[in-house]
Amino acid sequence: MSNKITTLFNIKYPIIQAGMIWCSGWELAAAVSNAGGLGIIGSGSMYPHILEQHILKCKDATDKPFGVNLPMLYPDIDKHIETIIKHKVPVVFTSAGNPKTWTSKLKEHGITVVHVVSSVKFAKKAEEAGVDAVVAEGFEAGGHNGRDETTTLCLIPKVAQEIKIPLIAAGGIGTGKAVLAALTLGADGVQIGTRFIASIESSAHENFKKVVVDANEGDTLLTLKELTPVRLVKNAFFEKIEIAQENGASKEEIEEILGRGRAKKGMFEGDLVEGELEIGQVSSLVTEILPAGKIVEEIIAEYKLALEEQKTDKYNF
Ligand code: NDP
Ligand code: NDP
Repeated sequence: MSNKITTLFNIKYPIIQAGMIWCSGWELAAAVSNAGGLGIIGSGSMYPHILEQHILKCKDATDKPFGVNLPMLYPDIDKHIETIIKHKVPVVFTSAGNPKTWTSKLKEHGITVVHVVSSVKFAKKAEEAGVDAVVAEGFEAGGHNGRDETTTLCLIPKVAQEIKIPLIAAGGIGTGKAVLAALTLGADGVQIGTRFIASIESSAHENFKKVVVDANEGDTLLTLKELTPVRLVKNAFFEKIEIAQENGASKEEIEEILGRGRAKKGMFEGDLVEGELEIGQVSSLVTEILPAGKIVEEIIAEYKLALEEQKTDKYNF
C-alpha cells in the first residue's frame, strides 16, 4: 500500500523522524529509515565536517532513503548545502527561514525538498516556493515554535484546505492513535520528534533521554518569546529566564542570560540544570527508551488497532 508521502519519499510508512539538534545523528536516522520510516539527520548543531561524517555513516548504515534537516539560521549553510549535494542526499527538510532561498538549487540536483511551517500563511508561501511537501507543526511541539501558538488540531485541517501538495503533521504526535488522528484531520503523513529522543540510537545524552521518559503533563512551556519562541522543560535555566522576564529584562539582557551553546549543554552533555531541554508536550506519553525500529513498529501496530476500533459501536452513532 502507498499514500502520497510513502510515494514521495519511496518509504514504507508515512512516519518521519524529526531532525533534532544534538539528538538525531546518523545512527537514529539510519535506524528509522531501516524500519520503514524516513530518518533525518539534524544538521543545525553540526559543524560542516561533522555533517559530512554523519551523511557518510548514514549511507553505510542504510540503503534506504534518508534526509537532512537544515535550519536556515545555521551560520555555515552554504557549506551544508554543498555537502548535501556532493553526497546526493535524497531529501532535505528546511526550517526557520524563507523556503525560496534554497528550494530551486536543491531541486535542480534532484533533491526532494520539504519545508517546516507553523501557519497557513507560511504553508502557502512554501507551496509557492516550489517545495514538494510541507510539515505543519503545532503548538505542542518541542523546540522552535510558531508565534501564533496554533495547536495541531486546529492547524492541520486549515493547512490541508489551503494547499495541494502533500502535508505532514507535527506537534504532539508520538503514538499510533495520534497518527490516525493526524491523517483524519487531512495530513498525509506525520513527523515525530520527542518520542525518538527516547530511543537507543538517539545521540541525546542519557540524562536527557530520561527527562523525556519522566516528563509529566505540564512540564514543558513556551519561552524566550523575545528571541525565538521555544518549548522547553521547566528546569532551573527556564526559571532563570522567567524571573528575568518578570523583572522586565530587555531582549539584550535575555540574550545575555541565554549565552551560547545552551542546547548542547542540556541535550548532548546532559546538564539538566543549566542546559536548554527542548521537548514537546507529548513527552508525558513517552514511558520507555526503546530501539528506534521498535518505536516505529509499536506506532504502526497501535495505528492499525485504532483503525480497527473505528468499526466498533463507539464510532457508529
Ligand atoms: P562516535 O561514536 O563516532 O563518537 C562519539 C564522539 O562524540 C566521540 O568523539 C566522543 O568524544 C563524543 N561524545 C560522546 N558523548 C559526548 C558528550 N556527551 N559530549 C561531548 N562529546 C561527546 O559518534 P558519531 O559517529 O555518532 O559522531 C561523530 C561526531 O558527530 C562526533 O564528533 C560527535 O560529537 C558528533 N555528533 C554531533 C551531533 C550533533 O547533533 N551535532 C550528534 C551526534 C554526534 P570522546 O570519546 O572524546 O568523549
Ligand atoms: P548557539 O548559538 O547557542 O550555539 C551554537 C551551537 O551550534 C554550539 O553548540 C556549536 O557547537 C554548534 N555549531 C555547529 N556548527 C556551528 C557553526 N558552523 N558555527 C557555530 N556554531 C556551530 O545556538 P543553538 O545551540 O541554540 O542552535 C544551534 C542551531 O540549531 C542553530 O542553527 C539553530 O537555528 C538551530 N536550532 C533549531 C531548532 C529547531 O527546533 N529546529 C531549535 C534550536 C536551534 P560547539 O558548542 O561545539 O561550538
